Amino acid sequence: EAKTRGRGRVAFFDVQLRERLQRYLELEQDLRAAVDRDELWLAYQPIVNLHSNRVSAVEGLLRWTHPQHGTVSPEEFIPMAEESDLIHHIGSWVLSTAVEQISQFRSDIGLDLRLKANLSVRQLEDPELPEAVDEAMRKSGLPGQALSLEITESALMHDPVTAARMLQELRRHGVRLAIDDFGTGYSSLAQLLRLPLDSLKIDRSFINDLAHSRDSEALVTSIVAMAHAVDLRVIAEGVENAAQLAVLRRLGCDQAQGYYLGRPSPVQELAGTIEVANRRAIIE
Ligand code: C2E
Ligand code: MG
Ligand code: MG
Ligand code: MG
Repeated sequence: EAKTRGRGRVAFFDVQLRERLQRYLELEQDLRAAVDRDELWLAYQPIVNLHSNRVSAVEGLLRWTHPQHGTVSPEEFIPMAEESDLIHHIGSWVLSTAVEQISQFRSDIGLDLRLKANLSVRQLEDPELPEAVDEAMRKSGLPGQALSLEITESALMHDPVTAARMLQELRRHGVRLAIDDFGTGYSSLAQLLRLPLDSLKIDRSFINDLAHSRDSEALVTSIVAMAHAVDLRVIAEGVENAAQLAVLRRLGCDQAQGYYLGRPSPVQELAGTIEVANRRAIIE
């Protein structure tokens, strides 16, 4: 009896595995055409400045609406794109589209918003990246200081020398640079200090239990102190409630982003999302 049950379980996992593989292969194949078919789009999430208590920036987050599979997360398809040269095509589409849309949005709304966009580790190896950034800025008229590029801590540590060289080059081209998901990698302070960074984004896993855990609070306190000592701004991501926001304010965090303030929205809904975030940011 145990034998049949065992075999049943094997068959079950087998089906699951096959379905996962099937999905992987399908998505991977369809990704190539997704850009041309206009299935990729950008959602924008507001970021609140905790000194002015106003939305000061938005982060562009990539979305894929697949005709059969619906919305596919970037956590699933960015790694696929990174396996091939598709990441360069998608990466430059993201840059030019985000810069263009937010430049237009700024003039429509009359707001001095900053744009944050995510870079893949593979883009850091692309010698044409600085020129592509320049061109996107030139075409749209968005000033260089209004663009901040985010690179995850683990991407930076993948090949610190190449990454550092690219970041220096991008900095010379006038854009700002941020470390994303800070705290999840293993970079040393010494390594970080060598990079021309402007800000540091604390990973949402540390924000999660901020209102309940003294360890998390101690950790965020020390990240803020360390960052400020070397003149970096600190952004908290994944802020999901008012209690977390209050703690972040008390700890001197500079900016906050999360579902509590606003969800990532299509550009057509961004004005409304920003309005809500501005109301949420007011101290009661
Ligand atoms: P990230 O850059 O760290 O972006 C933050 C992620 O946290 C986003 O997930 C966002 O939707 C989510 N988030 C925001 N607020 C909250 C919150 O309060 N609670 C929770 N639980 N989550 C929150 P998303 O949009 O699924 O993106 C996931 C990751 O995919 C991003 O992490 C980024 O690393 C990558 N990604 C997104 N867009 C791009 C892109 O254009 N290029 C590249 N290379 N990577 C991208
Ligand atoms: Mg990011
Ligand atoms: Mg992050
Ligand atoms: Mg992340």
